[in-house]
Amino acid sequence: MSLAGDRLVWDAHAGFELNTTADLDTLAIWKAAGVDFLSVNVGYDVIPWERTVAALALARDWTQRTAGYRLIGRAGELAAARAAGEMAIAFDIEGMAALDGRLEMVRFYHDLGVRQMLFAYNLNNAAGGGCHDADGGLTDFGRAVVAEMNAVGMLVDCSHTGHRTTMEAMELSRAPVVFSHSNARALRNHERNILDEQALACAATGGVVGVNGIGPFVGEDDISTAGILAHVEHYLALIGPAHVGLGLDYFHVGADASDFNETVAANARFWPPAQYPGGGVCCAAPAQFAEIATGLADRGHDQATIDGVLGGNFHRVAAAVWG
Ligand SMILES: [Zn+2]
Repeated sequence: MSLAGDRLVWDAHAGFELNTTADLDTLAIWKAAGVDFLSVNVGYDVIPWERTVAALALARDWTQRTAGYRLIGRAGELAAARAAGEMAIAFDIEGMAALDGRLEMVRFYHDLGVRQMLFAYNLNNAAGGGCHDADGGLTDFGRAVVAEMNAVGMLVDCSHTGHRTTMEAMELSRAPVVFSHSNARALRNHERNILDEQALACAATGGVVGVNGIGPFVGEDDISTAGILAHVEHYLALIGPAHVGLGLDYFHVGADASDFNETVAANARFWPPAQYPGGGVCCAAPAQFAEIATGLADRGHDQATIDGVLGGNFHRVAAAVWG
């Protein structure tokens, strides 16, 4: 099923921590909402790298055994998945701790279906700086990783990453760079949100900034469609309709939200309480993609702009980077 007839819907990031097949079963929520492509998170810096490999094994097995889903490695494979009524999936990793300090792990993950990776999950690591840390910029290892990601065809993602590291990465990368799920600091002053100059630098690489639906990043625990649209409108005005997308970062409450909020509470270094005063987060649901499309039309945006925001822009960048 596709939302609004033929419109392509690309969700640049799902937020759940993938531990069991029950987590994967929640992908039906995105599929029911008309999402055509979802980037499924298989790891982040909070967990040891071996658990990322285990999550990949689980997700690859589930995807190949479960009707209605298709693992894709190239942007051109999306059309066949849509024609077959299948939701297309690729994997992403949030933080280069998953590389265990080894450059060859970039190609290893790419071989296993990872098509997007960001530098650091909130805290500094061997590659660069996190958004909730004292960012010292890209390290020599981080620079080598960018070159390797460009070589193998993996999207360089700057979400969760410190300001200086993002600016250096965007200057260094030979391919378009994305912020898969980063809202505007101009609208909501939170360290996870990005400055206008970061969004402008991203657009200058040919990349896309994805707006997320996480309560404290949209506003004051705001998961409303109107709140999300305010960030979309900000980026449309700032960087233009070819560079705005959506990465809602949804996770299903019934499956693992309580676990996740326990993780947040137990890891105050990764989620500083001053930045997450509620001790957890809430998130907008994939069903809101339809409302976002309607909201953009109601605000007078043309068809090409709406198509680009809903999925066309990320699809274009994926085609350029993945092949
Ligand atoms: Zn994230």
